[in-house]
Amino acid sequence: VHVLRIVLGDQLNRTNPALRDCDPQRDLIWLCEAPAEATHVPSHRARTVLFLSAMRHFRDQLRAEGLSVRYLALDQHHYHSLGEALQADLSALRPERVCLTQPGEYRVATELAAACEAAGLPLQVLEDDHFLCARAEFEGWARGRKELRMEHFYRWIRRRDGVLLQDGEPVGGAWNFDKDNRKAFGRQGPGLLPEPLGFAPDAVTREVMALVEARFPHAPGRLDRFDWPVTAAQAQAALEDFIRHRLAAFGPFQDAMWQGEPYLYHARLSAALNLKLLDPRQAVAAAVDAWRDGRAPIASVEGFVRQIIGWREYVRGLYWLRMPQALDENVLTAQQPLPAFYWSADTPYVCLADSIGQVLEHGYAHHIQRLMVTGLFALLLGVEPRRVHQWYLAMFVDAVEWVEAPNTLGMSQFADGGRLASKPYAASGAYIARMSNYCRHCRFDPKQSVGDQACPFTTLFWDFLARHRERFAGHPRTALMWRNLDRLEPDTLAAIRQQAERLRRQLADGA
Ligand code: FAD
Ligand code: SF4
Repeated sequence: VHVLRIVLGDQLNRTNPALRDCDPQRDLIWLCEAPAEATHVPSHRARTVLFLSAMRHFRDQLRAEGLSVRYLALDQHHYHSLGEALQADLSALRPERVCLTQPGEYRVATELAAACEAAGLPLQVLEDDHFLCARAEFEGWARGRKELRMEHFYRWIRRRDGVLLQDGEPVGGAWNFDKDNRKAFGRQGPGLLPEPLGFAPDAVTREVMALVEARFPHAPGRLDRFDWPVTAAQAQAALEDFIRHRLAAFGPFQDAMWQGEPYLYHARLSAALNLKLLDPRQAVAAAVDAWRDGRAPIASVEGFVRQIIGWREYVRGLYWLRMPQALDENVLTAQQPLPAFYWSADTPYVCLADSIGQVLEHGYAHHIQRLMVTGLFALLLGVEPRRVHQWYLAMFVDAVEWVEAPNTLGMSQFADGGRLASKPYAASGAYIARMSNYCRHCRFDPKQSVGDQACPFTTLFWDFLARHRERFAGHPRTALMWRNLDRLEPDTLAAIRQQAERLRRQLADGA
């Protein structure tokens, strides 16, 4: 073997730099299904199936092109980790060199580099140009800045690449349409929603499903609703379906939630993007075209583009800037265990039961459910950030550490002290009542903070403010919150804090 070309489960693009100039006669492409990847944190059945099925489809595509592929299927080898399998193969195959595109996870990058070193072979790590912003470019952008704000990064990328710009100015007259994009469905509800295009499991996926059931019988999550795209062609079809049927309403209802409706107008493209079945430039171009042809308003198109070239690229840059220490950060010294119901959805709190229930069912919740229901509850309760991080990494089909960790630890749990979000996303039950119909079906009352009917979000919200007053009280955009806190009678606040403490004890017992 001349060059051993490693392809990881989240590098399934045919344009993967590690596959460029591949010599079918002399080079070997190497893919491995390592059990450790499905067990270092528990992995939702659908997440494992998605990765393995997409890898197998990719293997078949490469072989059909006449390329040589060594594929270590889960049930055909006895190695536990990627590093272990690679090291054994390097000793047996003795390639001249090894090449690999930058892995998406620090742990994997370290493990593979160590395996090559142990085998005494040079490893060439290639820039991952799936992303619009190279790691070194992000470092350059960040250097010398006091604050690393997403909005600044996003405008910089938009200007650099000329996205939605006219004569150097943002089209539609603004960089940001957030004020148009915070609508709820109101009393009448969302009405008839477009059914998103799903993909019935084919023979390859079904085989993987049986394997995952047998091999990981204790894994969380269900498989009976699995319908995620597992090939580039399906990812393309999913993109077209989103652009045609959901993009126009994506913007206004981005933050809305509705019981029993997991997708609403969201794209459902994160997993395909993160496995690289879909190129972000393609997704952006399709949305911009829809705006140009008058099929979608600027507020929706800009909102979508911002998620892809703004948030997605920005969190990746931050991840690599802050690893490995980022996973240990905990500036609010939160120590609670994660409540047991995060793994079962067995809770009387309707918003949590619905959001977690759909995660178990589909491996998916949309952004506001992640941030303002499951994330918010953990933040207010004071759950240790690392445990929250493990849950998000385990339970979502789109979970890859470079995107999951900054979102969880930074945006949602404020564990980084505000590098990502300038202030914590703290809110009471009133926010959930405004943005969803959950509270209408719940036996708790978002307006109450003490007593049997108190909404735990509301109780914990006041408790959170009282606990962290010193850290946050000076923040300019939070003045109203503090004024409201100060309006509470001392007795009321004491009762709220007692109730919060009881709740904490109760939930820790079950954890
Ligand atoms: P849409 O809402 O339709 O958005 C379109 C696309 O924009 C997404 O496909 C995604 O690629 C991108 N995007 C949107 N928001 C973000 C964001 N905050 N960061 C990065 N990209 C974004 N996203 C993941 O891909 N993997 C994760 O493991 C993940 N973990 C998260 C954990 C927490 C606590 C939070 C608050 C958010 C997390 N996100 C994660 C971001 C976001 O919630 C998902 O990308 C989104 O919900 C995926 O669904 P969708 O494809 O329907 O997205
Ligand atoms: Fe959730 Fe509280 Fe509303 Fe119940 S009342 S659905 S717990 S926010």
